[in-house]
Amino acid sequence: MKILVINAGSSSLKYQLMDPTSGEVFAKGLCERIYIDGKLTHKVPATGLKVERDIPMPTHSEAIEAVLSILVDPEYGVLKSTDEIDAIGHRVLHGGDKFVESCIIDEACKQAIRDCIPLGPLHNPANLMGIEACEKVMPGKPQVAVFDTAFHMTMPPKAYRYAIPTKYYEEDHLRRYGFHGTSHRYVSKRAIELMGKPASELKIVVCHLGNGSSLSAVADGKCQDTSMGLSPLAGVPMATRAGDIDTCVAQFIMNKYNMTADECLTMLNKKSGVLALSNGVSSDFRDLEAGANKGDEACQLALDKFCYEVRKYIGAYAAALGGLDCLVFTAGVGENGCTNRAAICEGLEFLGVKLDPERNKVRGEEALISADDSRVKVWVIPTNEELMIAQDTAALCGK
Ligand code: AMP
Repeated sequence: MKILVINAGSSSLKYQLMDPTSGEVFAKGLCERIYIDGKLTHKVPATGLKVERDIPMPTHSEAIEAVLSILVDPEYGVLKSTDEIDAIGHRVLHGGDKFVESCIIDEACKQAIRDCIPLGPLHNPANLMGIEACEKVMPGKPQVAVFDTAFHMTMPPKAYRYAIPTKYYEEDHLRRYGFHGTSHRYVSKRAIELMGKPASELKIVVCHLGNGSSLSAVADGKCQDTSMGLSPLAGVPMATRAGDIDTCVAQFIMNKYNMTADECLTMLNKKSGVLALSNGVSSDFRDLEAGANKGDEACQLALDKFCYEVRKYIGAYAAALGGLDCLVFTAGVGENGCTNRAAICEGLEFLGVKLDPERNKVRGEEALISADDSRVKVWVIPTNEELMIAQDTAALCGK
């Protein structure tokens, strides 16, 4: 079976053609500079083939056409015909409180995604464009929407409500939603398999640490709390996002520097986080580590702050869950950043977390990294959001 997984951004579109059962990726790639000029990068993992082409992409439709055309290309393709694609799965950022799970895309689903645009103003329109481009180019092909927010919809009100007047929740749907849900779902499901115990007996904290970072508290296989909020700006400091800050900081900056709310939010989203703390050295954790190793104090502070805030969330979630059995690291920094993992876990011995320094050297591979006498099992589990999207798509399309 072959599922095409699409992750459409405002000027880019990532794709993977994969088998939802084996997880084999037949081809994957990226369309960039949509609306500007257009560039396609296409890879075939089995042969190591990589092709880059400049292709005009005035809209997402031309980007999808370029993807389909390279997938059936006699030289670079992996399909004889696009009829071999069984269904298409789309990553959609914001499902609001309407979607607790993935769904088949029909007019009602598209309208619901449209209704969530005020909550996801940058991503939902792009996700819709990806969906509509596929409808145009492959009419009648079954499509499924997989929401970044859906896994977190099991949170209780005490976790998702903000302590502000109720009308903002009831009329405007302002609440904690959380993101990276597909990753948190995939990784927590895998952790439950690896722990070999019923989900009901496991209290898990998942640390998805990448360019964007979020943590989730999972009990009985369900999300109980998560660090991102109404938007992906909340939680721990990230590559360029500030994470949790006192709202009065924004008010002060807007007043003193005559900034609009949008300008201030752009600063908090794009110019803050570890990039800002390192005095602009980098938003990339590898560069920060290199800087810190050379004695750059700002780089060290950025790393210290990041690890400190992640550690605080782990402690908070252990308290929220009433215990901790399993701690999981995933995404770029979580899977590869051994030094960061060690720094995060330092001081968590009182919770029963004890890393094995040798095992913790692992990068990008599934592995148990806690010591044999660690009460809490600590795992590195590489995330695979595309596989989760492909599996949901296959299941919903009866494939
Ligand atoms: P992601 O958003 O999941 O792709 O993660 C990207 C982040 O992972 C970047 O900040 C990278 O610097 C970080 N990363 C990748 N490899 C390493 C590594 N070996 N050590 C620390 N961070 C890493």
